[in-house]
Amino acid sequence: MSSGNLKSYPDLETLLAHAGRDPAAQHGFVNTPVYRGSTVVFPSLDALEDQTIRYRYGRQGTPLTSGLEDVISSLEGAEGTVLTPSGVSAISLALMACLSTGDELLVTDSVYEPTRALADSLLERFGISTRYFNPRAGDEIHDVLSDKTRVVFVESPGSLTFEIQDIPALSAAAHEAGALVVADNSWASPLYCRPLDLGADIVVHSGTKMFVGHSDAMIGTASASGEALQKLRKAHYRLGLIASPDDAFLATRGMRTLAVRMQAHEERALDLARWLEEDERVQEVLHPALPSHPDHALFKRDFQGSGCLFSFVLPQAPRAAVAAMVDHLDVWGMGYSWGGFESLILPADPARIRTATPWTEAGNLFRVHVGFEGLDALKADLAAGLDRYFMILGM
Ligand SMILES: *Cc1c(COP(=O)(O)O)cnc(C)c1O
Repeated sequence: MSSGNLKSYPDLETLLAHAGRDPAAQHGFVNTPVYRGSTVVFPSLDALEDQTIRYRYGRQGTPLTSGLEDVISSLEGAEGTVLTPSGVSAISLALMACLSTGDELLVTDSVYEPTRALADSLLERFGISTRYFNPRAGDEIHDVLSDKTRVVFVESPGSLTFEIQDIPALSAAAHEAGALVVADNSWASPLYCRPLDLGADIVVHSGTKMFVGHSDAMIGTASASGEALQKLRKAHYRLGLIASPDDAFLATRGMRTLAVRMQAHEERALDLARWLEEDERVQEVLHPALPSHPDHALFKRDFQGSGCLFSFVLPQAPRAAVAAMVDHLDVWGMGYSWGGFESLILPADPARIRTATPWTEAGNLFRVHVGFEGLDALKADLAAGLDRYFMILGM
């Protein structure tokens, strides 16, 4: 299928500019247009019976979706990719493709909350049990694995608390126990981390975030090679999970600028993280690219760069202080999600979510996504917010 089209490119920037499009097949137009289609008509009985014809029905994809799959496969070093309607559906697909009744799933305790909800509700109902492990377990995962474990799910770093997981150590232990490793790589994007190279078997993305990059579409991706890819493709087709043509188009367009956006996000997020770290009133900054981060060595070993998203913790204060801070921001928006051009801040409480490794750090955590507004304007707006917070605290 589409893996046959993968080419090699001199560098990632050239790959992002060239991969997955074929102007000659589109009358010379640079970008593959949106294909809307369910039915494909066949000119003869021979053609109808020829299972090697690439496009036979809308659910098997279109030239547009194949192009996007090829870009992502090339970036992740995977044989193939499937597209889904959202990041959560890519995660549920990967888990349903690999797990059966009676199996056990191990999930990092720092995982994105809807992944936890999926495991604890739907998968539980289908007789798949889930246990959560310390995101910093590393080799100690041996003590957590059981003979029923079939999947270990990692998200590195956790997108709220930013622990880096030791994917090589976790993968070695998982494989020894006969389990597959599924990695949510949304934060780093394949430009800054390649989980399959580190030992994972399936890599999933909320393409909604960095791939689309403009907060205006939702899509998910799951990539793998060999047997894991066959499992993904079968489950994908049977579950009927297809991405919408418009969202596939917007994600494809987003890929063309992924490298420059990632680079700009990285620089700006680090600038803001360092600025917060210099403020004595800020209790902690959780950003793995800062030398102060407890997983900085692992980060340097396994990542080529850092993303747009990090958290910081302020000394415990009543809700009124949090409201005073976030209710009057002008440049920052408050909202879920991330990865767009616009900066976002989100108060969150990790203690409420975790089960295996209690979150004991007192204080109020704020997650920030650093977008493309002026950095001075972002800092001035946030500085005024911090002053309002500390005023209520009497600091
Ligand atoms: C947003 C997000 C998801 C879910 O993606 P959707 O496209 O919103 O379904 C999964 N993992 C991480 C880390 C996310 O931030």
